[in-house]
Amino acid sequence: MLVARILYPVEVLGPGKRIGIWMCGCKHGCEGCSNPELWEFDDKYEISVNDIFKIIYSLSMKYRIDGFTITGGDPFEQVDKLSELIERIKAISSDILIYTGYTLEELKGKNKLSITNVLGNIAVLIDGRYIEKRNNNVLLRGSDNQKVHILNSAYKERYEKYLSKGANKIQNFKTIDGIISVGIHKPGFIKQLDDDVKKFGLQKGE
Ligand code: SF4
Repeated sequence: MLVARILYPVEVLGPGKRIGIWMCGCKHGCEGCSNPELWEFDDKYEISVNDIFKIIYSLSMKYRIDGFTITGGDPFEQVDKLSELIERIKAISSDILIYTGYTLEELKGKNKLSITNVLGNIAVLIDGRYIEKRNNNVLLRGSDNQKVHILNSAYKERYEKYLSKGANKIQNFKTIDGIISVGIHKPGFIKQLDDDVKKFGLQKGE
């Protein structure tokens, strides 16, 4: 599967200290997307499900894992591999939150076994394209057309509490490739980033 990043502890995309997984490939082309570098299905990010699981497992041996947030890109563009991965990681935590540009209805309409399997094994799906003019700083959502679907009732209370109290925050990770900024960004983030990169003579990652 194509996975560009695995980060821990992600504390701004769901409750607790989570493992964040960024999958490559997205066909939605939303204007103002904060991760356009992950639209391409880039073979340089190929890694087996087993190797991803090994990384996750070794993190879980050292640190508390409160859940997973899987985003991208659109994770449903690699749904067969996504389904395999979820079958492995759900033993570590079944608080699995996935972002997708498809709506839940569109996913269900595809009548695909691996999609059914993913939807049946995760806690939360946040769905729908990003619409920049509807970016109103709503918790966990890039734009207010997107919906939070709590698919596992065991997590209803946890997420309702989180959604009623929290506020969007940004977390910056220092990695060997530079700084990776995680969270729900304000509208115009990409343009601001481009301007700052030019202003301060920095290099923007691919
Ligand atoms: S679905 Fe998400 S990753 Fe894909 S273009 Fe839209 S905002 Fe970007």
